[in-house]
Amino acid sequence: MAFGSSPDDYGQIPTILYWTELLKSVHLSLQVMTRLGTARADPGEMDTGELAIGEARDGSTVSLPVAVINGARTGNTLYMQAASDGDELNGVGVLQRVIPRLDPRELSGTILVVGVANYHAFQRGEHRNPIDDTKLNRAYPGDENGTSTERIAAKTFGAASRADLILDLHQGSTSRMINEVRVRCGRRHRLHEQCLQLAKVFGCGHVLDQKGPDGQLARVGPDEGIPTIDPELGGAVGFDEESIQYGVEGVFNVLRQYDFLDGSVETQPQTRANGFEQYGSPVGGIVDFQAELGDSVTPGTTLFTVTDVFGTVKAEVTADTSGIFWRTRRRPPVASGEYVCSVGTDVDSY
Ligand SMILES: [Zn+2]
Repeated sequence: MAFGSSPDDYGQIPTILYWTELLKSVHLSLQVMTRLGTARADPGEMDTGELAIGEARDGSTVSLPVAVINGARTGNTLYMQAASDGDELNGVGVLQRVIPRLDPRELSGTILVVGVANYHAFQRGEHRNPIDDTKLNRAYPGDENGTSTERIAAKTFGAASRADLILDLHQGSTSRMINEVRVRCGRRHRLHEQCLQLAKVFGCGHVLDQKGPDGQLARVGPDEGIPTIDPELGGAVGFDEESIQYGVEGVFNVLRQYDFLDGSVETQPQTRANGFEQYGSPVGGIVDFQAELGDSVTPGTTLFTVTDVFGTVKAEVTADTSGIFWRTRRRPPVASGEYVCSVGTDVDSY
């Protein structure tokens, strides 16, 4: 029932229902104090703090850095996290740049942030959690009594599942990759359209729309009814400022489109890949790429050559199918069978 509806709408027993609904509406219109870990923010305020995830080998408490930005007015709740993979820093760069620009007095709704999700991996600058050699983004929704990674997944999912929208900020690890957004729920999922729309609003220009492996936040979030995307902000060792800016723009687009902030977003058609093909090297040697990231390729387009260390070409590898040159390894030396590059396939636009 919309606030302000007439008691007459309720027919024979108007008064009680009317006041019940009125009280609900009044209650819902009041923004309340919000907590995440030790961070607590009253309406119109923000706070940072720590979210305990367990103990280190020395028995000390291990916590993730968290922030709560509590809008002055009611609205949606957004959850964001970075460094789910500990070597992926661009998402941290996005949060560093976005959060100082947010004024909770100008905000409707609430933003919950985990600044570094994969604590142990981040400390070591590694992709996986070194305590159990596991990728956090295969462990959702987690288990609070499980392995180290499952416990982090459970704690961060506890925060994420309070939200109406989830942004899990990733990148193509330390490889080279275009800036893109992944929709991982699969096209038969009831939230597929909503996830695609969120990806379009984020607006990196490229979308990979392919059901992801079990345990990804971008699969478990939609299962809980929460549109979720994985922005994949390029690939870098350390920060890549251009990719970080894609992420900053994407977050502000989401904040405007979903009414956290005033303003509107003009969405642009996104180039969507529905499949992904990986290419390995047939021989050992030094890879020399013949295509640029983002190039369209067709069957027969040369993707890369491999030379020996004296410069003699040993192999030339061409595309099997049409698509977009999407991702490459960073270091040129390869062994036979080793991963070299990926092509986004089955490409359309939406
Ligand atoms: Zn990642």
